[in-house]
Amino acid sequence: MSYQSIQQLLKTAPVGTTVTVKGWVRTKRESKNAVFIALNDGSTIHTIQVVAQPGQLPEETLKLITTGSCLAVTGQLVESQGAGQAVEVKIEDVTVYGTADPEKYPLQPKRHSLEFLREIAHLRPRTNTFSAVLRIRHALAFAIHKYFNDNGFYYLNTPIITASDAEGAGEMFRVTTLDAIKPPLNEEGKVDFSQDFFGRETNLTVSGQLEGELGAMALGKIYTFGPTFRAENSNTTRHLAEFWMIEPEMAFHELEDNMNLAEDFVKTVIRYAIQHCADDLAFLDNRLKEEEKTKKKEEQSEFGLLEKLQFVISNEFVRLTYTEAIDILVNSKPAKKGQFQYEVKWGVDLQSEHERYLVEKHFKKPVILTNYPREIKAFYMKQDPDGKTVRAMDVLFPGIGEIIGGSQREDDLDKLTARMHEVGIEPEALWWYLDTRRFGSAPHAGFGLGFERLVLFVTGMGNIRDVIPFPRAPKSAEF
Ligand code: ATP
Ligand code: MG
Ligand code: MG
Ligand code: MG
Repeated sequence: MSYQSIQQLLKTAPVGTTVTVKGWVRTKRESKNAVFIALNDGSTIHTIQVVAQPGQLPEETLKLITTGSCLAVTGQLVESQGAGQAVEVKIEDVTVYGTADPEKYPLQPKRHSLEFLREIAHLRPRTNTFSAVLRIRHALAFAIHKYFNDNGFYYLNTPIITASDAEGAGEMFRVTTLDAIKPPLNEEGKVDFSQDFFGRETNLTVSGQLEGELGAMALGKIYTFGPTFRAENSNTTRHLAEFWMIEPEMAFHELEDNMNLAEDFVKTVIRYAIQHCADDLAFLDNRLKEEEKTKKKEEQSEFGLLEKLQFVISNEFVRLTYTEAIDILVNSKPAKKGQFQYEVKWGVDLQSEHERYLVEKHFKKPVILTNYPREIKAFYMKQDPDGKTVRAMDVLFPGIGEIIGGSQREDDLDKLTARMHEVGIEPEALWWYLDTRRFGSAPHAGFGLGFERLVLFVTGMGNIRDVIPFPRAPKSAEF
């Protein structure tokens, strides 16, 4: 029989058959009656117990079987007498693929702090917490592709090295060649980009949106799902320098359709995770509950992880304008008592503390805010007739604040170019983008979901560095 993962085996192998299991040792316990070894191969949160009789394994072999070592075990699958597992494997044959020196192996059979695990990010996927997070991350990625495929969207790959700064926020990583930066530089002592391979300044993409719009204006409905880079020199728990973004873009959609899609989309993918990651979510829920117990009573969260997920999928999202939200916030208790760290004022972007207040305290529902002041949003958003606001939308979640940012796009060529001039973007530089407005312009809309913000929410983890396998952020960029 071909080799089965522990996950498949626990689901399908009948008691009494001979099986082979392979994996890494989590714990080894020797008693008078037997040696118990817990093996995990990463396919599931569960370990499988393999059991040897005392004296069955040579002393030299037993010594090599340490926490972190890798084994293949063949034996009969039998009902387990012990508590905690239904079945176990009676060892008939063991191969030690690789041992792990207990003096040097950093992962011990105990719960390590997340801070410590961040220092050994290369090994942390071997822990229950991180393997659960990574399996949920996988399931969400799959659910996202499935959602769009089921709804008639085409997956479009947009450039990673690009000349455009879609957001205009100046948070870009410059990409160049060694030839361009080696002396002699140009007369002003600056990098000579004309010597570069591309012959112009290029950057790592901050968003695939502008190219995504080209796709929508040809294929109707597209989505991107790719890496995005922002030189965010901030140490928040919600920002990474390299993250993954999902950006659907739809022709013939206005702001209202965009909101409907965003709400249906996030609810559907979260429902998928609840259905397909029950064991991992139960583990993380439990982990979170234990962590809460260590906090002071007044700081403990009233919701468990699963309740938080229910909160999103079972509530209709509240929709209101930025201006209405500012009214609420200005008249809120924290604003009056001066408890917000940042001031709330019409015209200023909201901070996560304000967004969370609206969701967690005021409405007690997920929120979609619309029609933000044009000055704080990107140039491409459709202008409202009042000339002050644009048809933007941000979706706000508990514990996180902004999870999605989107808008209906400006489809009027004159308005768009006038706005570009105002914010200092040379329309010539984006001539290809403006062609979508020159030739067969149409109403269209789209949004961006930060993948890690979604994974953060669904796993209940507290720090975005803990939901990506190889975090890149200030002070965490080992790879
Ligand atoms: P924020 O206000 O949180 O900085 P933003 O408004 O700058 O986010 P957008 O340009 O609207 O972000 O990008 C769309 C989405 O990408 C955001 O709603 C968020 O989910 C995600 N996102 C933005 N910046 C980051 C980052 N540095 N790390 C991880 N996700 C991010
Ligand atoms: Mg930002
Ligand atoms: Mg924002
Ligand atoms: Mg935004």
